Amino acid sequence: MFIRKMIIMKNIKILKNEPLSNYTFTKTGGNADMVAFPTSVKQVQELLNMAKEKNMPITVLGNASNLIIKDGGITGLVIILTEMNNIEVEDNLVTAQAGARYIDTTIAAQKHGLTGIEFAAGIPGSIGGAIFMNAGAYGGETANVVDSAMVLTPENEIKKLDNKELDFGYRHSSVQDYDDIVLSATFKLKPGDRDKIQAEMDHLNELRASKQPLDLPSCGSVFKRPKGYFAGKLIHDAGLQGYQSGGAQVSKKHAGFIVNIDHATATDYLHVIKHVQDTVYKKNQVHLETEVRIIGNDKK
Ligand SMILES: Cc1cc2nc3c(=O)[nH]c(=O)nc-3n(C[C@H](O)[C@H](O)[C@H](O)COP(=O)(O)OP(=O)(O)OC[C@H]3O[C@@H](n4cnc5c(N)ncnc54)[C@H](O)[C@@H]3O)c2cc1C
Repeated sequence: MFIRKMIIMKNIKILKNEPLSNYTFTKTGGNADMVAFPTSVKQVQELLNMAKEKNMPITVLGNASNLIIKDGGITGLVIILTEMNNIEVEDNLVTAQAGARYIDTTIAAQKHGLTGIEFAAGIPGSIGGAIFMNAGAYGGETANVVDSAMVLTPENEIKKLDNKELDFGYRHSSVQDYDDIVLSATFKLKPGDRDKIQAEMDHLNELRASKQPLDLPSCGSVFKRPKGYFAGKLIHDAGLQGYQSGGAQVSKKHAGFIVNIDHATATDYLHVIKHVQDTVYKKNQVHLETEVRIIGNDKK
């Protein structure tokens, strides 16, 4: 029987044996031993100390919009940063905490008449996830607008990394290589016309809504863009749209998305991913690498 237990440790809310499907955009995933919701950098540092003392592995999540968490769940401590979500604007700099939504950051920039970040108006992740992934859309990339980020190293030290040190690449940043935790990021934008900025954001969000299955749970584009191809076109041309395993289905609206149409499990998602990869490889000899991060334990 599932028992949900909440404890408060040093003012930090911690849930035990918590289903991560409550947080993932796909609405799938097993349980975490513990989930903590820090509200400050100090609390994140305290959690790192506690995990070290108890020899517990740590996993950091933002908005869980780019994740498949396997059905066996996550061992140890999951830190969800969404309660650290402050956004500040000073001159042409916008500084957002790791748990702030990228969407809210673009809204704050627009309100202050700052341009450059409109491309992210519909990206449903957090700032931490956006730095980690170098999230991008419609020709824009996080790398192009980030001035610097504050991170916590695995040694529990706060460090400032400038754009160069973040070593951005296609869906890559140095955070992936060094297991840093992003605490906040500062975006350097340019003065612009509020109405024009809003119009561009509206335009991109309309485009998104017309092409993407936003009415169903998903994790966005499942596969990276292979060199010289488009993942969605390869999947479409292989006749895979509508392919289904359990409750997970290759979207009929956008071939690059896998949607949860009927109580899918993470295992259903993984079956669909494997089938798509195998079929596209057989047909085109192109390997589709996942953009979505697959983490956690297999179900026993
Ligand atoms: C409908 C839909 C549309 C999408 N459209 C786009 C798009 O246009 N462009 C695009 O790039 N992506 C898109 N995505 C994917 C996703 O929103 C981005 O990858 C986003 O940047 C992930 O942020 P997150 O907070 O959800 O990260 P999560 O899914 O929570 O985590 C992703 C990875 O980042 C790590 N991480 C998260 N926060 C931190 C942190 N603070 N410090 C260190 N590591 C961290 C996690 O450990 C994990 O490995 C879309 C997703 C959906 C569901």
